[in-house]
Parts: sequence; C-alpha cells; structure tokens
Amino acid sequence: MVRSEVAYQKCISPACGATYDVGEAHVACTKCGDLLDVRYDWDRAAPPDDLRYFEQMWSQRSDPTRFSGVWRFHELLPFARREDAVTIGEGQTLLQQADEVARYAGLNPGRLFLQYEGMNPSGSFKDNGMSGAFTHARSIGAKQAACASTGNTSASLAMYCSVTQLMKAIIFIGSGKIAYGKLSQGLDYGALTVQIEGDFDDAMVRVKEVCRDLGIYLVNSVNPFRLEGQKTIMFRVLEGLGWEPPDWIVVPGGNLGNSSAFGKAFSELAELGLIERIPRLAVINAAGADTLYQLYETRGVRWQGGHGDMNLVTEYYREMDEQAKKASTLASAIEINRPVNLRKCLRALEVCNGVVRQVSDQDIMDAKAKVGAGGIGCEPASAASVAGTKLLRDEGIIGADDRVACILTGHLLKDPTATVAYHAADQEQFDRVLGSRGVRRASFANRPVLVPNNLDEIIKAIKLHN
Ligand SMILES: *Cc1c(COP(=O)(O)O)cnc(C)c1O
Ligand SMILES: [Zn+2]
Repeated sequence: MVRSEVAYQKCISPACGATYDVGEAHVACTKCGDLLDVRYDWDRAAPPDDLRYFEQMWSQRSDPTRFSGVWRFHELLPFARREDAVTIGEGQTLLQQADEVARYAGLNPGRLFLQYEGMNPSGSFKDNGMSGAFTHARSIGAKQAACASTGNTSASLAMYCSVTQLMKAIIFIGSGKIAYGKLSQGLDYGALTVQIEGDFDDAMVRVKEVCRDLGIYLVNSVNPFRLEGQKTIMFRVLEGLGWEPPDWIVVPGGNLGNSSAFGKAFSELAELGLIERIPRLAVINAAGADTLYQLYETRGVRWQGGHGDMNLVTEYYREMDEQAKKASTLASAIEINRPVNLRKCLRALEVCNGVVRQVSDQDIMDAKAKVGAGGIGCEPASAASVAGTKLLRDEGIIGADDRVACILTGHLLKDPTATVAYHAADQEQFDRVLGSRGVRRASFANRPVLVPNNLDEIIKAIKLHN
C-alpha cells in the first residue's frame, strides 16, 4: 500500500504547484504539463536524525528490504510501506577508490572514487529506479508496464517483470541503436519488444501515447517514483565515504533522471539537517548528444527557482528540428536529444552549484579503457563521467585534491562490440564501429597477440610482450 498520510505528488512548477495523491499514476501534471515530484510530510514520516542510523540495516539483511541497497534507506523514500516494497536485490554496489584512474584524470591518489552501478542485477543503475516504480505500480494494481529505452531501462523493466511475475513488459526501442548485451536481456526475459523506425526520442514520444491510450504503466524516468529509487545511489556514495559528502559528483547525462534524482537527494538531506554541505554536480553529455550542454553552458538557461526563461529551450528545439539534428554517439545510453527531465536537472544544477560539459567519443573510449585497466570496467556512456572529470581537472575547475565520485552507470559487458572494436587490431571493425563516430585512435588499446600454434613461438611471444 502507498502511504497517502506521509507522501503526495506535486508539480515542480512554482507557478502551478498542483498536488496529487500518491496512489495516482501520472507522467506529467494534468494542469500544466510539467514534471511531478514525490514529496513527503517529513514531520509525519519522521526520518532518522543521523545518517549513521542506516549502518544497522546490514545486520538485518535476512529481510530482503534491508538487503536491498534501495530499501534499506526506506525512511528517506517512504511513499509505500516497507513490507510492500518490490526488490530483486538491487543497489548492492561498491564505491571503489581508483588511484590509477585518478592519475589519468589528474587527481591525487585517494581522491577519485568510482560508484560502480554495473553491479546491479540487470547490470545498470536503472534497477534502483525500477524497484521504486515497481513498488508504486504494484500498489496501484498495474498489470502492464512499458518504457522507451536505449537498452538499460528495458533490460531492467524486463528483468523485474520476469523475476516478480507482477506485470507484463512492453519495451520500445529505436532501430539499429541498441547495444547487443542490452537487447539480449529484454529478449531473454520475455518482454514484448517493439522496434520502431526512428531513434530514442521518437520511441519516447510513441510510448507516452501508447500508455495513455491503453492505460499502461510507464516506467521511464518521467515517472517520479523511479527517481526516488535513484536517490539512494547518493546515499550509498555518502555511506562509502563515512557520510562525509565528496566535493564533486560526476555523472553522464542522457534523459537526466539520475542527475535530477541526485539533486533531490541532496536538497532533502540538507533540508532534514542530515548533511552540512552539498557536493557540486557535474553532468557530462556526449558531444553528439549535447542538448543540456548547449542550453546550460552556451545559452544560459537556468532554473531560477522555477522562473527561468524556457523560451530559450523551445527556440533551441525548433532549431534542432529545422536542422533535422539527431543525437549521435557511441555512448548509446546517452544518445538522447530531448531529455525528458531537463527541468528537474536544471533544478538539480541550481541546488548543487553544477556545471555541464561535453566530451567526444574519442575521450569517452579512451577513458573507458583506463577505467577497465584500473577498475571494474564500464560501458561507454559511463566513462563519460571519467572523461568529464579529466576535462574539468584540465580546466582547473576540479582541484587535484578534490574528492570526486564518478558514477559508473552500466556494466562493461553491456556493449562488448565497442570494447572489442577498440582493443582488437582489425582495422575494418575499428572503422565500422568507432571510426564512423569520429574515433581516430585507440590510445590505450590492449591488442590480442597472434601466434602460431607452436609452444616455442607462444613462449617467445609471452616473453616479448611481458
Ligand atoms: C540510462 C543511462 C544513462 C543516462 O542516465 P539518465 O538518467 O537518463 O541521464 C547513462 N548511462 C547508462 C549506462 C544508462 O543506462
Ligand atoms: Zn502543474
């Protein structure tokens, strides 16, 4: 059951401010069309007064909702009763100190941390949000759930459906854009997969229409309950640092759900007096999908307490349409030109004194190789966070002694095609997969060594390359 006595939904536009019961399912404010937040009456919800409270939860891990890296923070997202939370073991993720990667980015040893969200059941951070959306969907009796996806949201939705058997999954993907690891998940978990002619932005428009017409529950990050689950990524970063906020959180930006959730997490923690300082937020676009960068850094679009000039956004989208500009990057998880959470992200950038940068596919692939060689590894989009950190270090905006947490959003095995094309010597494959996106060299390639099937030759080759 949802908890209408402590939680409600509220339009983020201060000019509107419409509220809705927490038991309703909306993907936008029905009065003005803006995004909705899940809000709490904190006096009634009575969260703990010290974050160290959450350290006791691990000793209760035989209870699946305390084992979950999302629901063991239930007191900070109490929109449903904890007994009714849906969990498949999401959020058991690691904050890893990575000194090799720090060296690459220009940070001093001990200053760079990688929050490895690839360790989630479906291999990306999306599971944090999906457990939130599923908890809400079940409590209101939804029978079918849908999403548009560049691959990871659909993999996550499909997995939650197959594990819990609570709902049927319908996933919308664009043509030819989805990484094989992600596509294979949706198919194997038995989701109805609808591939439409078009890209992610097209699929997003259609899935909203279909959900409206057929009464299907939408789990894209316009769903505010998704973002409640994703707040916990920040709680775990804080936990990994002994509850001491880092100086910077660096995250790739696609549909901007994560960055929006992080901003909400920090503003709530500050409001509750649970942290004394809010980290700065850096959102990193791929250069081929740089809408947020263009709007925030070049055109000066700001939240301004909800009163910023959004005509600049309309204008920019009109220009994109005129030029028929489509998103294009190897980092397929962030290949998005019309981020649905733009306004919430602008709010997060205000709360966290944020910056936005764009990085090339070359920089992303090189950073990815460094993450693999000095950490657990990640998919291309995730490495934008490390490439962005390096750029902000070069610019002097991040200091060499700043403590930085980069969010590694997805697992290395999600997109083996990109990884193999980078490391393997075959020029034809390199050109087809990477060259077409403007990647010119594999700066840190680890090439396979070809040897005849002969013991002496093999030993010679090992000695030569060791
Ligand atoms: C979804 C996704 C992103 C983008 O996150 P947003 O919340 O949409 O900005 C980045 N990396 C990976 C691996 C993803 O799956
Ligand atoms: Zn409204």
